[in-house]
Amino acid sequence: QAKQEGRGRVQIYHDELQTQAPHRLKLENALRKAISQAELEVWFQPRWDIRENAVTGFEALVRWHSSAFGPVKPDEFIAIAEELDLISDIGDWMLNAACRHAATWWRQNHCWRVSVNLSAKQLKQTDLVQRVQQALSDHDLPACALELELTESQLLTASASVADNLSQLRALGVRMALDDFGTGYSAFSYLRRYRFDTLKIPKEFVAHTDTDVASEAIISAMIALAHKLDMIVVAEGVETSEQHKRLRQMQCDEIQGYFIGEPLAGEELLRDIEEFIG
Ligand code: C2E
Ligand code: MG
Ligand code: MG
Ligand code: MG
Repeated sequence: QAKQEGRGRVQIYHDELQTQAPHRLKLENALRKAISQAELEVWFQPRWDIRENAVTGFEALVRWHSSAFGPVKPDEFIAIAEELDLISDIGDWMLNAACRHAATWWRQNHCWRVSVNLSAKQLKQTDLVQRVQQALSDHDLPACALELELTESQLLTASASVADNLSQLRALGVRMALDDFGTGYSAFSYLRRYRFDTLKIPKEFVAHTDTDVASEAIISAMIALAHKLDMIVVAEGVETSEQHKRLRQMQCDEIQGYFIGEPLAGEELLRDIEEFIG
């Protein structure tokens, strides 16, 4: 009996391998061609200043609509892109696409900032600063219009070149944000070592403000800490008016989330631009 069950389990495992390995391989091949086949898009999600009641900028979020697989989530394909060394190409593409869109806003006198997520590999590029400078000058965008978001896990393997990149980018006038603060390993030590302009509170904490005393305590501690270090605080994943109200009471500076607006395609944003003007 036990032997049969054991064999059955092996069988299932084997079947999974058979179906998953080719899937992953096909996904990898599709991703290699995603840029050249123009399957990537940049979408934008608004950030909202709670005191001013105004849009301050947009986070650029990559979208991949594969002809073979349909829409694939960034959480799934960014990790694959890192492994395959495709992330530099995707990251460059995103940086330029985001700057190009931001430049069209600025030309219409909407001086919104654009935030771009960086991957760990990009952070280590020795020419990251030149790439960023090039993107800004190609699109005639001031450095203050750009913010770059990093997560703690990306800083985990950080070296001296990463510290150099971060300080040089800030010297240019590009803003740096620490994304998903508190979900990694040793967040506090990074705040000691690196300077950031913005702290982003992850949606995992925001989601539980209504019901969970601990989440609320953690958020208000994060806000106090950030303000002491001269950072502004953005709460992510704000979905309800109650969360908005609590965050305002807790002196949070900005919010981002479905309550304010879902990510939308760049063309859509331009079409509905009036919606975002104060
Ligand atoms: P992130 O940078 O923390 O981005 C916020 C994520 O939360 C986005 O997911 C966004 O669509 C989602 N979100 C926004 N508001 C809400 C809300 O009210 N409720 C909920 N439940 N979710 C909300 P998305 O676009 O799927 O991206 C997931 C992650 O993938 C990002 O997390 C970021 O780490 C990564 N990513 C996205 N675009 C890029 C990129 O261009 N480069 C790199 N390296 N990573 C990217
Ligand atoms: Mg982000
Ligand atoms: Mg985040
Ligand atoms: Mg995230």
